[in-house]
Amino acid sequence: MTIEREIFSALIAQNAFQGEKPSVQSYAKLAVDKGFRALSSKQQAVVSPFLKKQCVGMKEPNEKHNNCQNSIVGRDLLTALEKSETYKGWRCESCRSAS
Ligand SMILES: [Zn+2]
Repeated sequence: MTIEREIFSALIAQNAFQGEKPSVQSYAKLAVDKGFRALSSKQQAVVSPFLKKQCVGMKEPNEKHNNCQNSIVGRDLLTALEKSETYKGWRCESCRSAS
C-alpha cells in the first residue's frame, strides 16, 4: 500500500472529509480503492492538499505558543493522525516529543 493510500484511508476512517464536496470525497475514496496514481492530475490536485497538514503547534511550559511552522507529511502525517484525538489537533514530530 502506498503512503497516499494509507493516509486517505486513515482520513476517511476519521471522517475528515465530512463537509467537503462530494467530488472530494469520491476522489479520496478512489485513491484508497485504486491508488492515488489512478487519479487524473486534476483529481490529484483536488485531494492532494489533504496529504499535508500544518502543525497546530504547542504551548511551551511558560504558556507561550511556539508558533510551529512545520508541515506534517507522509509517514509523519499518519503518525500524527493516529495520535491526534481530534482532526484539528495534529502536531509534528518535534512538538509531539516536546509536549
Ligand atoms: Zn510542530
